[in-house]
Amino acid sequence: MIIADMHTHSSFSTDSTEPLMEMARSAVEKGLRTICLTEHLDYDYPGGEFQLDIAAYREELLRVKAELSDRVEVLFGAELGIMDYLAPRLNEFAAAWDLDFIIGSSHLVDGKDPYYPEYFEEFGSKNGILRYFESILANINAFANFDVYGHLDYVVRYSPEKSYESLDYREIIDEILKALITRGKGVEVNTAGIASGMGYPHPNAFILRRYKELGGEIVTVGSDAHDRTRVAADFDKARAALEKSGFERYAIFRHRRAEFVKI
Ligand SMILES: [Zn+2]
Ligand SMILES: [Zn+2]
Repeated sequence: MIIADMHTHSSFSTDSTEPLMEMARSAVEKGLRTICLTEHLDYDYPGGEFQLDIAAYREELLRVKAELSDRVEVLFGAELGIMDYLAPRLNEFAAAWDLDFIIGSSHLVDGKDPYYPEYFEEFGSKNGILRYFESILANINAFANFDVYGHLDYVVRYSPEKSYESLDYREIIDEILKALITRGKGVEVNTAGIASGMGYPHPNAFILRRYKELGGEIVTVGSDAHDRTRVAADFDKARAALEKSGFERYAIFRHRRAEFVKI
């Protein structure tokens, strides 16, 4: 089984109410050896949500880590919402804190959240997805102080069709993956969408396989759980997706450095 959940949120994230301690206890119950909290920080999110009290978060994490140290490893991570112009602020944040792991994610495209129907109403299905991928490439070119890119194609969840033809986006996907690989960055396999009917983790098999073919080696596995019940959810499917794409190991990040574990 996969023994590390590298993408989880607790009440230090705007969209979770679960105490950090309960997330860590759930990891123990599910037989994990490692859980990484990756609380949201999205500078300039409309309405001011998704900001992070990192000092308070760190203090609570260290308390939980110490209390459960003989049962589970608790890592200190963050999920940074990237937009290219935020690079200076994100770099400052990343340098200021002793994080184990940073996920870079696209939650906003030109300040708009594709989660809300207005996004696809404005851009249309195909262009909405293309714009999302294009913004990821711009983000990576502007800011690379992260370890893996989060849920690379999760925008599809909010598109009218809830699916997309990867081949239509082959060129931009290749550019993204090459940009990640040349910078030594990984891709995360995110199982959050499976329960809501996606059937597979993000990114899909096409992107995972292509990352591998182009020479990518760094993959982490995360549930993106926002409550205790979802910790390590659908990790059997993540494992199957990795094996199918030719990966024999996945990474756990400590002090921003990848250590590999056999699947
Ligand atoms: Zn995210
Ligand atoms: Zn997340």
